[in-house]
Amino acid sequence: MIKINENYLKLQASYLFSDIAKRVGAYQEANPDQTIIKLGIGDVTQPLPQVCTEAFHAAVEEMARAESFRGYGPEQGYDFLREAIARHDFQARGADITPDEIFVSDGAKCDTGNIQEIFAADIAIAIPDPVYPVYLDTNVMAGRTGQYRNGRYEGLYYLDCTQANGFVPEFPDRPVDLIYLCYPNNPTGATITKAQLQQWVDYARENKALILYDAAYEAFISDDSLPRSIYEVEGAQEVAIEFRSFSKTAGFTGTRCAFTVVPKQCAAYMQDGGKQLLQPLWHRRHTTKFNGVSYPVQRAAAAIYSDEGRRQVKALIDGYMQNATLIRNAMTELGYTCAGGENSPYIWIDGRRDSWAFFDLLLNEAGVVCTPGAGFGKCGQGYIRISAFNSHANATKAMARIKKALA
Ligand code: PLP
Repeated sequence: MIKINENYLKLQASYLFSDIAKRVGAYQEANPDQTIIKLGIGDVTQPLPQVCTEAFHAAVEEMARAESFRGYGPEQGYDFLREAIARHDFQARGADITPDEIFVSDGAKCDTGNIQEIFAADIAIAIPDPVYPVYLDTNVMAGRTGQYRNGRYEGLYYLDCTQANGFVPEFPDRPVDLIYLCYPNNPTGATITKAQLQQWVDYARENKALILYDAAYEAFISDDSLPRSIYEVEGAQEVAIEFRSFSKTAGFTGTRCAFTVVPKQCAAYMQDGGKQLLQPLWHRRHTTKFNGVSYPVQRAAAAIYSDEGRRQVKALIDGYMQNATLIRNAMTELGYTCAGGENSPYIWIDGRRDSWAFFDLLLNEAGVVCTPGAGFGKCGQGYIRISAFNSHANATKAMARIKKALA
């Protein structure tokens, strides 16, 4: 008798985006002339930078000629991309990361989901609330939790991120082994300071724990005092794995390219207490189960590191950040307390009422779609997330409508 992995049955169906779609559909039917503005999704709206499409095209042409055709590439990524990443994203900021510590992949979603495979089944895990749901669900699938009761999975340690702690959690009051952190954060838009991140790294070193640091939104940081990488912090290379993505940085959500950094010093422990380096383990996992990102996509990704590429990426990010500033200012003027929107494309707004009630208010009174915070975890109740991923014209129109409706 073939048996299933029953852990999958513990997973909660996510009704968040289908519930949003249902409510938006009903509103559109009742108001056929209203154009709805969607500021709910976490997907980019602007096209790829020109440097990327040019490199993409050129690489496709290479694939069309016998003398430059390429078959399977290195599973971990081509050297040209790994070297550019190491130099520009890390060494240029004082973080001593080398190309062989970089694993190119087709998404930070897959990487943040897959990484848990290299750890034991009985480790104690700390996950922020509210949270990007991938961290949670992949550990449920792996059997590291009990059942879901009262809005939370048994057996997990939830790191509450609230207004009171500035959306940077306090340290757990019991030992944990694996800690997920994400800054700039989705959904709260909060950032972490170097001093705060140093405390987490120190905590991990003292407790033989490991930090999984999701920096998918680092490109939105403009405040130079904020860390873009956890490796800007002393000792992080021993206790942290970092995830990055070209998705939000350069509009690659539909093109797919990301990378994970596993430093050579980074270690975890065996049953007998012996130290095991993680870079060879992840290398083995990656090369066994993954066959590399396509050559043209890696060429397109590498193009962002040229001088012109950096200018184009900056223009792209600046455009979204103009929207973020507009949204944050408008909501603040209306008297709402906001997190994010500075150094982050998400604005997390305390609606002072039920998340869905605020969602309905914005939809019905302004024709604007946001994301109810309750969909990201218990601590998201009472908040909504507004995303800066849209055209400037749409963001401007949306905020004018909201101001009129809520003033
Ligand atoms: N990590 C966070 C925090 C995200 O919000 C997202 C996408 O929304 C991802 C990772 C996924 O990135 P990718 O497109 O590289 O899979």
